[in-house]
Formats: sequence, C-alpha cells, structure tokens
Amino acid sequence: MLQTTIAGSLPKPSWLAEPEKLWAAWRLEGDELAAGQRDAALVWLKEQEDAGIDIVSDGEQFRVHFVHGFLEQVEGIDWQRKTKMGIRDNRYVVDVPTVTGPVRRKGSVHGAGFEFTRAHTGHKLKFTLPGPMTICDTIADAHYGSRPEMAMAFAALLNEEAQEIEALGADVIQFDEPAFNVFMDDVKEWGIAALHRAIDGLSCTTAVHICYGYGIQENIDWKKTLGAEWRQYEEIFPALNASRIGQVSLECAHSHVPLSLIGLLRDKDVLVGAIDVASEEVETPDQVAATIRAAMEFVDPERMYPCTNCGMAPLPRQVAAGKLRALGAGAALVRNQLGAE
Ligand code: ZN
Repeated sequence: MLQTTIAGSLPKPSWLAEPEKLWAAWRLEGDELAAGQRDAALVWLKEQEDAGIDIVSDGEQFRVHFVHGFLEQVEGIDWQRKTKMGIRDNRYVVDVPTVTGPVRRKGSVHGAGFEFTRAHTGHKLKFTLPGPMTICDTIADAHYGSRPEMAMAFAALLNEEAQEIEALGADVIQFDEPAFNVFMDDVKEWGIAALHRAIDGLSCTTAVHICYGYGIQENIDWKKTLGAEWRQYEEIFPALNASRIGQVSLECAHSHVPLSLIGLLRDKDVLVGAIDVASEEVETPDQVAATIRAAMEFVDPERMYPCTNCGMAPLPRQVAAGKLRALGAGAALVRNQLGAE
C-alpha cells in the first residue's frame, strides 16, 4: 500500500538541454542526442529507485515537451503555419502549429525510448501521454471544424501508441489532461468520451493526470485568480469516478484544493500529489507524511499512491532529486506507522 510514483517529467541534465526551462532546446543532435536521452533516462531510473519510488518512469527524457513530443511525429500538422492562440482559456498566448489535414502517426512515436527504459528497470513502469483534450487546446484547427471531432481523431492515434507501449511492457499508461481543470463542461460533454477512445482495448492500468500546471510564473499568476478554495475538481470528479479510467492523479500539496473533494473518487485509485512543484524548497519526509495522512481521511491507503503534484521538468535537477527522496521517505514513514499499528 501507499506505493509511490511520479506525475510525469523530470528535469533534463544540463548536458542534454538548457536547464530550468520548459521547452528547452536540445544541446545534442542526431545519434549523440539519442545516446544522451538514453543516458539521462538511466540517471533518473537510478535516482527514482534509490529514492524508493515504486512505480517509475523515463521522466520524459526522450521528448522536449509532453504534447509536442507526440505531435512532432503526427502527419496532418503544418508546423510552419503558426496560429496565435490563447491556450488554457487564455492563460498563455502562444504561436501554435495548425492541423491542416487528417491526423495520422508517421510510425511509432515513443516506442524505442520506452523499450530502452523497460529493459533497464525491474520496477513497475509508467508511461505518460498527452490527453486528447489537452492536445486540442495546444494546437489550432483548420481541418476538423470542431474540437470534439478533432479530439476523437487524436484519441485514435493515442490509442495506437498506447497499445504499442503496453505491448512493450508498460504497467501504467497515463494521459495528462491539465485542460480538464479549465473546460469543465467539455470534460463531461466529450472529454471523457475521448479518453475512453484513447484507452480502448488496454489491459494495463490506466490513469489521467489533472493538475494546475507546472510551477511557472503564468500558472502561479493564474492560481492567484482562483480564490481561496479551488473547486474545479468538484465539477469533474463525479464523471471521472463513473468513467473506465483506473486512476486519477491530482494536486494536493500546497494547493487550495479542499481535500474532501478526493472523496468524490471513491471507486478509483488516487494519485495524491504530495510534492509541490511550484517551490524549489525540498519537502521534509515529515511534511510529505502529513499530506498523505491528511488525504487518508478521504481515501484508503490501499487505493492511494503518493505522487508529485505535476511534472518537475522546470526545476533544478538536484531539487527534483531531493523531492523524489522526500516522497519515498515520507511514504515509508506512513507505511511503517500503519504497519506498527
Ligand atoms: Zn501536471
């Protein structure tokens, strides 16, 4: 019980990409880049295992960013045709590429990186993919004409990729849907249906990660507008609880999410965010244990997986490593205490 895991990304080593930055450009290319990505994945597997993380991941070392890392290998997208778009309900205005035709995978996107990672750990292994709604909120549409329709098209591609990753030995496949916290009505209207399309036929554990974003300034500013209590989860958790997704990963530590909302996920495994990714201060094991104990009021330890609030890509590498160790040690504290009772 209380198996630990991480939400997604880990920082790239400074020899691989510019540190402490999202979307950081690679510092290597060609075969050197591929070898560097593999070395970085090995470093993070070792760091996670040493920290006592039970369900590990590649830390997204093989991709620049979780959304574009997938989209780069998809046909039907014009990367030269940039459209200015206010994404996440205008939280950031960015130039995004444009869908100009039917989307199709050019081939395996993440298979080679995953296969390498699988060969180098005996731990349970999780793989993360962007969710269909979040993809549609990160790219402009000049072809499908409706977001739900485009989401279903991407969900079909994600499903092909997920089937392939499962066959290579994934224990958990997680879809990241930060957009679920922004477009709550759409979640119920078509977001969950698109997720169901993405997990069609999978027999491994499936998860969805819904957070308030990386610890970058735009998100910190946005969070200040959300009031004293963040109740977005309240609108979507009942529908997620009724869905076929196995696990829900959410943000707790240092957030304004009322913990009682976790109680809405009574039929799911819950990945409780016990590590704040918006602060460079490394939690103590006691602080992590306190977050876990507080959440245990609303979810049984058998169904709880202590986790990070979100990806840690923009953090300094040593800070992220310290936070992994705090997570492992904090969960162990609570496990030992429960075992002693
Ligand atoms: Zn996140």
